[in-house]
Amino acid sequence: MKARPIRCLITAGPTREHLDPVRFLSNPSTGKMGYALAIAAAAIGWKVDLVSGPVALPAPAGVKVHSVVSAAEMLVATKKLFARCDVLLMCAAVSDFRPKKTAAHKVKKNNAALVIEFEPTVDILKTLAKGKKPGQLVVGFAAETRNVETYARRKLKEKNLDFIIANRVGRAGSGFGADENAVLFIGTDGTREKFGSAPKVVLAQQLIVRLRKQLK
Ligand code: C5P
Repeated sequence: MKARPIRCLITAGPTREHLDPVRFLSNPSTGKMGYALAIAAAAIGWKVDLVSGPVALPAPAGVKVHSVVSAAEMLVATKKLFARCDVLLMCAAVSDFRPKKTAAHKVKKNNAALVIEFEPTVDILKTLAKGKKPGQLVVGFAAETRNVETYARRKLKEKNLDFIIANRVGRAGSGFGADENAVLFIGTDGTREKFGSAPKVVLAQQLIVRLRKQLK
């Protein structure tokens, strides 16, 4: 009997939280790492759904791309796909805050200070991981400017993840927008593995191979 392909759900890129139709809160995520993971997963025969925030990357061949803009839209899209996936790789740099109100029309300047009230967005990963079924692998990402491992371990626990992939951001050569990355792969099962600096495409292949081992 032919084995059913592994279903993999990947999120990538930033989200945009609009204040009005022409202004938003976002971050410098380019989606490179998430797209590289999607390409690597599809290359080994996994069925890949890629929920992507706004990025300037082409849709990878053989991958189903679901385009979203805000964290709220990403939550809706991932909720639908999570139930039938075997692996979730939550690579997106989801905005933690959004303006409390979004104006229907462009906010006009009037030489006065503009005070914007923000509210937290829903933690998509934490919400999905709460409903994790046996056999499902939930993998989060932690981008930190300091205390990388400590913060990553905290997230692993607080968000009920199986693994977390942690990296340092805010310095040249790793993290947002860079072509190379070095990560620490930590699991609730005691796993602690270093993946040295490599192009994101290569690193993505290594991580997918490592996760495939976990599914067996
Ligand atoms: O807590 P922090 O944002 O650093 O956690 C990072 C992980 O949580 C990433 O995997 C990210 O995709 C996910 N996340 C999320 N929803 C949010 C914020 C982060 O799913 N609102």
